[in-house]
This record gives sequence, C-alpha cells and structure tokens, in this order.
Amino acid sequence: MFLQHLECSACGRQHQWSRLQNLCLSCQKPLLAIVDLTAAGRTLTRESVATREKSLWRYREVLPLPRDVEPISLGEGGTPLLHAQKFEDNIDLWIKDESLNPTQSFKARGMSVAVSMAKYLGATKLAVPSAGNAGGALAAYAARARLEAHIFMPRDTPRANIIECRELGAHVTLIDGLITDCAAEIARRKREEGWFDMSTLKEPYRIEGKKTLGYELAGQCQWQLPDVILYPTGGGTGLIG
Ligand SMILES: [Zn+2]
Repeated sequence: MFLQHLECSACGRQHQWSRLQNLCLSCQKPLLAIVDLTAAGRTLTRESVATREKSLWRYREVLPLPRDVEPISLGEGGTPLLHAQKFEDNIDLWIKDESLNPTQSFKARGMSVAVSMAKYLGATKLAVPSAGNAGGALAAYAARARLEAHIFMPRDTPRANIIECRELGAHVTLIDGLITDCAAEIARRKREEGWFDMSTLKEPYRIEGKKTLGYELAGQCQWQLPDVILYPTGGGTGLIG
C-alpha cells in the first residue's frame, strides 16, 4: 500500500490514515488520501493492470488498505463502456454502464473501499443518510463485512430502495424531511450510538473508490480520455475522485 497520509482539502493539515477519521480536526473540511504515485507506478502499469481481476481492486497500489488485508468486495467496477450507435451520425457517444455494479449503481465503488477501511480501522456500526443508492450500497457492503448499517432515508424515498436496505439487514429509519435532515439526525446521535459517519465527503475513502471510474475509462479508451465526459454531480465524490 502506498497511502502516505490524509490531507485537509482546505487547510492542508496532515492526519494519520491509520486511525478512523471523518473531517479535518482543525477546520472540519474534507480529508483527501495522499498516495505515493511514483512508488505505486513501479508495479501498477498498463500491462500489469490488463492481467488482473476485473474488480476495481485491480488498482490496488493506488487504493488504501494494507496489501495483506482482504478487501470487502462484491466484484464492483470493471463495468462495460458501450457505444451508443443510435447517435452515431451526430456524435461519437459512449456510455459507461454503472448499473452493472453489484448494487446497480456507481455507489458500490465508494462503499467497497470505504467499508473496507472502516472495518480495518475498527468501526463496527456504520451510518449514512441516503435517498436511494448510497444506502443500498452501504447495506450490501456492511452485510458483506458483518458490520451494522444504520441508514436514514427521507420518508418519500422510493420503496424499492427502502426494501433493498432492509432486506440486506440494515437498520432503516425514515425521516420526515430532506436528506439534510437525515444527515443532521446522524450527526446528533452518532457519538452516543457509536456510529461511524459514512456520509458523502465526511470520510476520506468513498472518493478513493470512485476515482477508479476514471482509470477504467482511460483504459477502455486506449489511454486517451474523451474530449468531454458527462457525469452527474450528485454529492460530488465521483467528480472529486
Ligand atoms: Zn483543515
């Protein structure tokens, strides 16, 4: 593993990766993982990646988690890049089909890496506010890791997402309000309940899982990135990653 430390995205303060961290201890802004890319590049090459398993853990050198620790994985990543031939006359459009991830969305990438690190660093109860796919992903990866998942969802969340979380064994609480109200409920109770907050940008490793989308895209485009990438902003972890 070539993760060196965590660095505050605002004030630059360094934090140890080897203990559970949420936000910067000085300014409460998000922490980013700093990886020794030169060292990682000695074994992570285009050729070596091509021979590895299809999951996002093929980029192991640039992901957190010590080498001898088994990741919490359900086979996420390695999704196809499909040519949208219907639009061929006007534009050369390709679609990265993230619905083929284990929990049917790109959220699986972030949760695989974040749950792996949370478990490794000793968390036992994970909490997240979600209006859908992030909750489903946390429920699945927490179940895989044998950790508790506590998911707070707005009451008008699609029923399919609520059922998905419950069937996977998560504790689901429906809140009369928006996702921000769900986040506030977690913030209010997490210390007393012993929950580790897995909210978007409130822990450093969901971004690390999401960044593998970019690596895959580069590889699938023969290491030449497209002129334009259209990407839903959501909470922002995918774009930052
Ligand atoms: Zn800071």
